[in-house]
Amino acid sequence: MKILVANLGSTSLKYRLFEFAVGQERMLARGGFERVTDYGAAIDQCLAELVRGGALQSEQELAAVGFKTIMARGINGCVRLDAAVLAAMEAFNEIAPAHNPPYVNGVRRFAQRMPQTPLVGLFETAFYQWAPEAAGRYAVPEAWYQAGVRRWGFHGASHKFVAERSAELLGRADVAERVRQLYVDGGRRAVAAPELRVVSCHLGGSSSVTGIRNGVAVGNSLGMSPQSGLPHNNRVGDLDAFALPYLMRTTGLGLAEAERLMCAESGLKGLSGLSNDIRDLVSQAASGHTGAQVALDVLVHQTRHWIGAYFLELNGVDAVVFTAGIGENQVGVRAAICRDLDRLGIQLDPEVNATVRAQEAVISPANAPVKVMVIPTNEELVVAREVRRYLEQAKR
Ligand code: ADP
Repeated sequence: MKILVANLGSTSLKYRLFEFAVGQERMLARGGFERVTDYGAAIDQCLAELVRGGALQSEQELAAVGFKTIMARGINGCVRLDAAVLAAMEAFNEIAPAHNPPYVNGVRRFAQRMPQTPLVGLFETAFYQWAPEAAGRYAVPEAWYQAGVRRWGFHGASHKFVAERSAELLGRADVAERVRQLYVDGGRRAVAAPELRVVSCHLGGSSSVTGIRNGVAVGNSLGMSPQSGLPHNNRVGDLDAFALPYLMRTTGLGLAEAERLMCAESGLKGLSGLSNDIRDLVSQAASGHTGAQVALDVLVHQTRHWIGAYFLELNGVDAVVFTAGIGENQVGVRAAICRDLDRLGIQLDPEVNATVRAQEAVISPANAPVKVMVIPTNEELVVAREVRRYLEQAKR
């Protein structure tokens, strides 16, 4: 069974093609296009590349196209992206302005282009369905909560990948199997003692921290929208709700402009006044650029803040995992996050840390109580696995 996973940005289309057979899964091809102006043409090109490269005989061979969809009103988990689901995604366009509109638009283009092929989305909120209720509530009136004002949590595919892979690497096959079955049985599968407690730090273009107990998330630093939690590349992160009305009343800032500033001119870009790319910030901070250093310091401070929250919630941790573009590659950011935590059992081996980029590794000393690990994420694989399961269940 071949499943294409498409990652849709407002002007980009990235893809990976997976093949599943009994007891086997592999990636057959990957690719992508930037600065896309005509989505239909990009889809044509993607399919043509897969056929030309021999990964597909024809597009009819695709069992489905999977999408890492973000959020939809009243819908969670892994679902067929029909007109009703797309409308429910559109209902949350204002909450996820950088994410939902490109997905809705892109999925419609896929539907026009390949009307016979099932289009299936795994929502980024899916991993948090079993977190404690208190972790999902803001202290707002009930009517707001009913309208969707709650902490959803995102990056579910990535943190789920880390939950499963870290359990495997830590010798906990039972917990890894529970993660694999999570969307079937809601984490009810029994696991052995002691509890496996993991904090996963996805630091990339968007960043978030999640706590994971025995394979099940206890919360995520992202709240109601993908603009919350840690500072992101150019999105704001957590902000006191009263900041916005204050600025609007005292400076005449309009709502549309405020939204644009929070989605495109804030985060690491806003803090540094320089760049949304961590590589620029690291090199400029080293040459004395104050804004770049402040941006790095805030990212580190916020990451530590959330690691601390889950450390307490989980009654300590067995492993802290770094993943995504920054977490997998930025040696200095990892070192700064783990600084002076030895009394909590969290330590880095500086020499090992310095050599690890984009590869699985333990970067803590061999005898440290907490394993600090780097695990390259594979969100597309998580999506493809759930899409496969969806198709098999739909057949029954
Ligand atoms: P996205 O969330 O858009 O998928 P990534 O996970 O690739 O993005 O993270 C993007 C961030 O990671 C950027 O700040 C970028 O500088 C950083 N990054 C990505 N790859 C590398 C690398 N090889 N070395 C250093 N930093 C990297």
